[in-house]
Amino acid sequence: MSWNNINILYTMQQFIDKYDFSGKKAIVRVDFNVPLNENFEITDDTRIRRAMPTLKKVLAEGGSLIIMSHLGRPKKVDPKFSLQHIVARVSECLGVPVQFAPDCMKAAEQAAALKPGEALLLENLRYYAEEEGKPRGLAEDATEEEKKAAKKAVKESQKAFVKTLAGYADCYINDAFGTAHRAHASTALIAEFFPNDKMFGYLMEGEIKAIDNILKNAQRPLTAIIGGSKVSSKLAVLKNLLGKVDNLIIGGGMGYTFIKAQGGHVGLSLHEDELIPDALEILKEAKERGVNLSLSVATVCAQSFDNDAPRQIFPITQIPDDWEGMDAAPASLENWKKIILSSKTILWNGPVGVFELPNFAKGTLQIAEDLAEATRMGAYTLVGGGDSVAAVTQMGYADKVSYVSTGGGAMLEAIEGKILPGIAAIQD
Ligand code: AMP
Repeated sequence: MSWNNINILYTMQQFIDKYDFSGKKAIVRVDFNVPLNENFEITDDTRIRRAMPTLKKVLAEGGSLIIMSHLGRPKKVDPKFSLQHIVARVSECLGVPVQFAPDCMKAAEQAAALKPGEALLLENLRYYAEEEGKPRGLAEDATEEEKKAAKKAVKESQKAFVKTLAGYADCYINDAFGTAHRAHASTALIAEFFPNDKMFGYLMEGEIKAIDNILKNAQRPLTAIIGGSKVSSKLAVLKNLLGKVDNLIIGGGMGYTFIKAQGGHVGLSLHEDELIPDALEILKEAKERGVNLSLSVATVCAQSFDNDAPRQIFPITQIPDDWEGMDAAPASLENWKKIILSSKTILWNGPVGVFELPNFAKGTLQIAEDLAEATRMGAYTLVGGGDSVAAVTQMGYADKVSYVSTGGGAMLEAIEGKILPGIAAIQD
């Protein structure tokens, strides 16, 4: 099944707008995997705020909420990853005091006692191996047999896990786009307990429409800007985009593999020799399909991977042996700006430089600025992925682009053409 089947399947589901939540208990999978500082304070509450339209709709109609999420990647109960840290902020955003269930498997009484307009947040689902359905605590030298048995055991207990969660509610809403590409208990398996009462939340609907605007309803020229560290991590995306876009801008660390593939000198820049055949294939296919594939022409280099290292600009094909490409230089950015401003639809995922180091973040911030300008001129612009979203937010442009996705990995898998398990579970 691919993303192209999505409209057909869309007709099979309930829509949150049409559902009457009055007197109903809704269990809602959200993605409250927010960043916390060392004092366990939320440093960016975007994911909480973006789930509010769905959560508020249920409460406003006289329904009650059982909210579930993961936080971080705990492999056992670990207070560092407790959702207790975010209860106050969720309450504040929702406008009602949110109750807390300290064990997501022991919340039946609290869920049953919820009155219309009340909300309960369950403790981190990933305290249980059943959420991801992957065995834990296996010895490093475990045999294949032991691994198989452990996998079977966790899959077995997963059934009871899902049944317990489903038992808390009358209907299920998936509003966790950030985890929609994972076939986990709360994102995919639980849906089958609610054959006529499962639906996407508003955030999921928005994300799906945004991706449709790129993959199916794009006004042309359509441009994709793909940056980030490695070709290997975005190979499928690059290949799928070739069949769809008019312009493909490849920036960031992954660009150097393409430069080397064409005989350029990349010095110490990040590159993957084993991906050179793939890079050549992509270059060839772009040519055959008439896609304008635009690589960097000049790069800001450093002599070490350090914010304060001396910097110098070199043509991208002539980087000296002891220098490393760290950011897109003005000549590249000017080329890309022309492409961006002449596009009607633009997708951006991945930084065009080492965004974490302020001296090498300029290229990525410039792309954010260009996207905001393109949006002002009427283009549809979709931004996803941690660094790209951070760049847009840092520039104060989050509401000056058309859509900021809450899911980096999920968005990339959707763009690869895959239908995500969290989406399929609602539509099946
Ligand atoms: P990704 O997760 O694939 O989107 O990659 C993001 C990472 O790519 C960030 O951590 C950036 O620092 C890194 N990156 C971007 N450009 C470069 C570069 N020229 N050299 C090394 N790393 C880079």
